[in-house]
Amino acid sequence: MPCPTAASTDPPATIRMVDLQAQYRRIEADVQARIAAVLAHGQFIGGPEIVELEARLADYVGVAHGIAVSSGTDALLVALLALGVGPGDEVVTTPFTFVATVEVIALLGARPVFVDIDPATYNLDPALLAAAITPRTRAILPVSLYGQCADLDAINAVAARHGLPVIEDAAQSLGASYRGRRSGGLCHIGCTSFFPSKPLGCYGDGGACFTDDAALATAMRQIREHGQDRRYHHARLGINGRLDSLQAAVLLAKLAIFDDEVARRGRIGGGYSERLQGQGAHSTASADNGLLLPHIAPGCSSVYAQYTIQVDTRDAVQAALSARGIPTAVHYPVPLNAQPAYAGYCCQDCTPVAARAAERVLSLPMHPYLTDAELDAVVAALLAAIADSAI
Ligand SMILES: *Cc1c(COP(=O)(O)O)cnc(C)c1O
Repeated sequence: MPCPTAASTDPPATIRMVDLQAQYRRIEADVQARIAAVLAHGQFIGGPEIVELEARLADYVGVAHGIAVSSGTDALLVALLALGVGPGDEVVTTPFTFVATVEVIALLGARPVFVDIDPATYNLDPALLAAAITPRTRAILPVSLYGQCADLDAINAVAARHGLPVIEDAAQSLGASYRGRRSGGLCHIGCTSFFPSKPLGCYGDGGACFTDDAALATAMRQIREHGQDRRYHHARLGINGRLDSLQAAVLLAKLAIFDDEVARRGRIGGGYSERLQGQGAHSTASADNGLLLPHIAPGCSSVYAQYTIQVDTRDAVQAALSARGIPTAVHYPVPLNAQPAYAGYCCQDCTPVAARAAERVLSLPMHPYLTDAELDAVVAALLAAIADSAI
């Protein structure tokens, strides 16, 4: 019989995959003030917040031009349109990504050409890139998955030999560094997403394109605004791809704490790895219990958009963790070349590394406000779930 006067009547704090409420408690006053300012001036589209945000983001990423757009998907679409990608063209990319990367290529009538991933980083394997380039190739679209840049120097070098532009899909990696430079600013164009759960998220949909190329920047500004070069004069094909002022206001408040959040993400990702290394797991070869940890390449940092491990019997481990109250996710269960909508573009067994990863990856709770006690709890539950599922 439970004692009605027992002191600890609070339910145990739930561990969340992403904790936007904890972040909001920290920035509430600033968010409210900035939103109130937009409501007062009434420039809901193209307000001063957009201009300020674009300048701050470009400065952060280290490029000349930042173009705020309506989502990460639209950022990719705007970038491909600016490069003139269309029917009959090929765009080389990875099958192990969120669908948007490949969707925009196909929407333009171009053909996604899938190159397999590096087994340690899950990013497009540069060693396989040259063989995928044909006379129809129009662009290369690597993804910086889970918060770590793809090997962009190697990819840019292959692209340069073929005279091709590179678009970095930096939807998960804003804040990551690669050999002293920042994700989003390492290729001809960088595209990111401000979907709420991304490392820098707004309170709805949003995204941005980055470039040092003034002509591409002008093209992308026109494309996000129905291809206008001046009011009601449409120089080119475009879309309604604008970010709105309220979302920019939210992002300005979040940018003020972004450096701290990136540092926390790094510590928390490192904290998971330290705890799991203590249990015999590594980032280059599976432990006896099948555990493989994230591998951060030399010269790189990760913002851990996801802290993603590999484990044997992944589905059983995920179910056992769920039974212990620990949320997890699978990014991604099916490579895109095996999805019904994209199966026509590629043999499905031409990317075996992606196929194997899709069966084994598991993302643990990851956000800047996880405590040491919560990390301990997740790791203990994970090890118990692995032990359970091995029986
Ligand atoms: C989230 C994401 C996108 C799409 O961003 P949205 O803002 O949701 O449109 C594209 N690519 C990758 C790798 C993503 O993770």
